[in-house]
Amino acid sequence: MKPYINSTYTNKTDRIEKAVALIEQGKVYSHHNGTFRVLTERFAGGYTVTLTSCDCDDFEQRQAAGDNAPCKHQWAAIGATAAMLIADLRKAATLAALEATGKQYARAMTTLPEVFKGIARSEYRKRYDALAAESREDARLEILIKPQPKSNGTYGAIEI
Ligand SMILES: [Zn+2]
Repeated sequence: MKPYINSTYTNKTDRIEKAVALIEQGKVYSHHNGTFRVLTERFAGGYTVTLTSCDCDDFEQRQAAGDNAPCKHQWAAIGATAAMLIADLRKAATLAALEATGKQYARAMTTLPEVFKGIARSEYRKRYDALAAESREDARLEILIKPQPKSNGTYGAIEI
């Protein structure tokens, strides 16, 4: 028997990617009182979003379970800078590109609430470790395919 849980809560599509899509689609509006409105197809009028609340089911369900991670609307509204940063960090193909991306966002990140900064920092570290491991692997492969210093141009009976 399948558990009765809406598939949108169980699928693993990323909140950050969804948040970036909401930002890019122009669905995030800020109010003068510091709250945000994030438009959605599921609910006419959109959700009212603050640092500590959102009307969406995802937020309410996780809140009830004691999980304080931001929902995609909070990422899109309050954590927008961090969401954009994380999306760019994931695209960085080299350590240098990763560091440049981190620097580019550093100043804008200082004003963000800690929850977003903490997740962005851990995404940075994860990406850094992955890229560092890749470059170590590249260096190792380079050594393996280089002719040995003592090589006289043959490998066994095979000329190389
Ligand atoms: Zn939400």
